[in-house]
Amino acid sequence: MKVLISGGCGFIGSHIVDRLLKRSDIELCLVVDNLWTGRKDNLHHINDDRLKIEIRDVETFASDVLFDEIYHLASPASPPWYMAEPRRTIESNLIGALRLLDVLKPGGRFAFTSTSEVYGDPRVSPQPESYVGMVDCTGPRSSYDESKRCTESLLFETLRTKGLDLRVVRLFNVYGPRTRPDDGRAVSNFITQALAGKPLTVFGDGSQTRSWGYIDDIVDGLERYFWLDKIEYPGPLNIGNDREVPVLDVAKYIANLFGGRMIIQHPIPINDPTNRRPDLTLANKILPGWSCSVPYEEGVKRTVEWFREEMKLSKVG
Ligand code: UDP
Repeated sequence: MKVLISGGCGFIGSHIVDRLLKRSDIELCLVVDNLWTGRKDNLHHINDDRLKIEIRDVETFASDVLFDEIYHLASPASPPWYMAEPRRTIESNLIGALRLLDVLKPGGRFAFTSTSEVYGDPRVSPQPESYVGMVDCTGPRSSYDESKRCTESLLFETLRTKGLDLRVVRLFNVYGPRTRPDDGRAVSNFITQALAGKPLTVFGDGSQTRSWGYIDDIVDGLERYFWLDKIEYPGPLNIGNDREVPVLDVAKYIANLFGGRMIIQHPIPINDPTNRRPDLTLANKILPGWSCSVPYEEGVKRTVEWFREEMKLSKVG
């Protein structure tokens, strides 16, 4: 099997690469990553001749080799990063998917990590996959939300018109080891701020909720779904932890872990969703036995330990 993973140097992508290389049927695992938000360090621990890394933009990717399986993860996922470069965000998701479809073997598998952002600021809770969402296509989050939505359209319409072994997941606020210290999302911000002895920045009053998924739980779900041999359901499939927790609670928890750091309020960003929680009915049916077993209290502790080491190393290096 020849497999390609775009964004394989990234936070989630690198964890997928680890799992892919455990498979004995894989002869080539090609990572395509431009290191915009990904880091080569995330694959540093791997010593395996089957792994090849091409540092380049996925939207210009071309190859004579066709791939049996393609995993398209290349995209920033953190609001400050995608808001800073909206055009590039759209290119990596949408144009990237077009380029990758060109190098998929006929009958090959195409997996795409979409996002709970397709639900926008939801009016329904929890959000089932059938909920069409409340997204503002002119807002500052739109480059991410709409490019994920349009890539879903491209893939589901390719499935309808040409056929494809498709797997589309929608991920909900994933956090954990290998997040960039300067990623800018809530959990990593709170932890890096606490480690640096700074106040934790809560946007708005912190009553907005998210469903925080620890990376190992999420990748367990992805592995089960992506690797399933026979599948009746091409997606979209919600993958996340369905325990919904206000941002302020997470900030307070982390502040207390550090003996009571100060929490300060910043203005709430435009279009910041008020709530987010996956309906996991479908996931439970399609992935029997899978569930998120790491509560955020435990996941945060593990992430703190990882960041502690990471920040020590980056000071030395
Ligand atoms: N957030 C916050 N402080 C931060 C970063 C984020 O209060 O330093 C809030 C943000 O406004 C949002 C929630 O935490 O309501 C989750 O933000 P994140 O960027 O992690 O993910 P997303 O907005 O994409 O769900």
